[in-house]
Amino acid sequence: MSRTALRICPLCEATCGLTLTIEGTAVTGARGDREDVFSKGFICPKGASFAAVDGDPDRLRTPLVRRDGELREATWAEAFDAVAAGIRPIVERYGPHAVGVVLGNPNVHTVAGALYPTVLMAGLGSRSLFTASTVDQMPKHVSSGLLFGDANAIPVPDLDRTDHLLLIGANPLESNGSLCTAPDFPGRLRALKARGGTLTVIDPRRTRTAKLADRHIDIRPGTDALLLAAMAQVLFEEGLTDLGALTEHVEGLDELRDAVRDFTPEAVAPACDVDAPVIRVLARELAAAPTAAVYGRIGSCTVPYGTLGSWLVDVLNILTGNLDRPGGALFPQAATDRTPRPAGPGKGFRLGRWHSRVGRHPEAKGELPLSVLAEEIDTATEEGEPIRALLVVAANPVLSAPDGDRLDKALGSLDFMVSVDPYLNETARHADVVLPPPPPSQSPHHDFAFNTLAVRNQVRYNRPAVPLEPGRMAETEILARLILAVTGMHGADPSAVDDMVVGQTLGKAVREPHSPVHGRDPEELAALLTGENGPERRLDLMLRLGPYGDGFGVRPDGLTLDRLLGHPHGIDLGPLRPRLPQPLKTRSGRIELLPEPIAGDLPRLRQALRERPAGLVLVGRRHLRSNNSWLHNVPSLTGGTNRCTVHIHPEDAERLGVRDGGAVRVKGAGGEVTAPAEITDGVRRGVVSLPHGWGHDRPGTRLSHAATDPGVNVNQLLDGSLLDPLSGNAVLNGVPVSLVPVT
Ligand code: SF4
Repeated sequence: MSRTALRICPLCEATCGLTLTIEGTAVTGARGDREDVFSKGFICPKGASFAAVDGDPDRLRTPLVRRDGELREATWAEAFDAVAAGIRPIVERYGPHAVGVVLGNPNVHTVAGALYPTVLMAGLGSRSLFTASTVDQMPKHVSSGLLFGDANAIPVPDLDRTDHLLLIGANPLESNGSLCTAPDFPGRLRALKARGGTLTVIDPRRTRTAKLADRHIDIRPGTDALLLAAMAQVLFEEGLTDLGALTEHVEGLDELRDAVRDFTPEAVAPACDVDAPVIRVLARELAAAPTAAVYGRIGSCTVPYGTLGSWLVDVLNILTGNLDRPGGALFPQAATDRTPRPAGPGKGFRLGRWHSRVGRHPEAKGELPLSVLAEEIDTATEEGEPIRALLVVAANPVLSAPDGDRLDKALGSLDFMVSVDPYLNETARHADVVLPPPPPSQSPHHDFAFNTLAVRNQVRYNRPAVPLEPGRMAETEILARLILAVTGMHGADPSAVDDMVVGQTLGKAVREPHSPVHGRDPEELAALLTGENGPERRLDLMLRLGPYGDGFGVRPDGLTLDRLLGHPHGIDLGPLRPRLPQPLKTRSGRIELLPEPIAGDLPRLRQALRERPAGLVLVGRRHLRSNNSWLHNVPSLTGGTNRCTVHIHPEDAERLGVRDGGAVRVKGAGGEVTAPAEITDGVRRGVVSLPHGWGHDRPGTRLSHAATDPGVNVNQLLDGSLLDPLSGNAVLNGVPVSLVPVT
């Protein structure tokens, strides 16, 4: 007998509600949930393949422990014994920083990944944290930190109400949105056009999104910050700035005007390959639109001036008065956000509180660049210990970090390594212990991270659609036990981790004058929490203390976990609303338009006005049926147009003697790869494009379908030395390469 269950899709940032069909304990189908308050029935091919992703036979079912050099199946008790025995001696002998932690992007798609890694880092005390953010969006966190004082305060475009949308380096028709959670992003763009709005796309590729746009500007890769700076200069020069209600919340306007004075459209045009009159039109249109939003994404982040570009996106929104107003770019308010504190000066945001040991790269948001993970393992210095052990949680840095060959070798030299991963992938194959979480259908779901980036405030929660298979362990319990094993509390009850967090959170809340529970007894409050287990109690706690919460009885109609469970399709919390100045946590309590680190980096951008390297440059690309390296083992999500090919412009192909479908060898600073060429005028001249996440040809993995069409790893073309200096983000776009046909 089949039944249905609701489950939010975890396969991209759009967070669509799905209705799963379940036969026995197996998911056999998925369709969009029409009653979902946010996605209203939208589904894409990835979501429709949920059953195949969930039931992939290559998913590991039991832990693996290395014995006599071989990874062998083991019990959970044996696995955690091995973790404790492997990690603790390293912490005790070399100190906590000798244990590195790598967090992959799937962590933001799970309850466990949201609730436990910060506890892990605090308990371990290690500064050696590396995440997928530094090969993705760290520049945006840094620019938000510097402008608003909070690295997680990221304004999102008000897609459903804006009159004018300017997208830079974003392709939501394939990605379905990123740092902007919007189910049916394509439909929302079409609706923008249908109501008379305009869509402009700036991208060196004529992507599906660019084809939908009213105007496509095929900029030279890596020069977005120059173009945006020129737009800001035009706004000042032509008297088009109008901060409106923002005026009282902003400081540094005159300094900003001086700082962008050199970046005239005429000065940046040769570097960007965008005509000066076009840049002026872009600026004037932005200023003239009744409402407008500028939105930059991965193509504008993973470049040498990623932080400057991310900063300028918000600068343009501010200068045109579009930040924090309907139709512009607003700060979402998630149900599990902290209790809003009164507006006023905060602690501010600092970079470089510590540095990487070898290259002296500054931390950003507590993280070191993923690009330098290999050297932090394989290079000895007199300053501190190299990383000797690694905890890898839902990450595959051998494919996602620059120079995978070097990292592959470095991982092989570690004293000990743990992978929390459902697959024996290119990274996990080096582990001494692999701890496999259950498939998504057997896990609860709530979008702690993506609701803070959503274009509409809403809240949804799913309990597991299917009970845990015998022999499985919940991912939340795996991470709680991992924390205990590496912090010297191996064997304690994992609920102790949740109890500790609840106790600490309530202890702090009752001391805060603005908290609804100020002055109350933390133990009495803890006893009021509901939920079937520790993670649910923590969700209840966050909901009740959050901006829509019941405040433990203070607002009787407010949110609680019980109330949310009574709304299986979610609760709509309304459109985004202006929130300033409350989200600001800068030391001044205002938006600091020209923070010192940004001002200090502008001379580098000025230098870029005079540089125009000859030769080909590489950019990435995304496919609708793909998500980084996660989904290449699912037959229905590979093949067809989702292939690892080199896109090259017809004129470049002719000049270099490349034929369509023929093999080409692409060389970069870090190495070379050979892949089939696909000749297309969808890339501009001088640019070649390879997708990321491929390269499933290393021995010792268990990814049987992915291995049949492995593709090549684009990151092998990088040597890890190209970084955006402020954020430590890897430069993945606009990278110089050469290309020859393989005869
Ligand atoms: S758009 Fe994203 S969240 Fe929605 S169904 Fe597709 S993969 Fe899932």
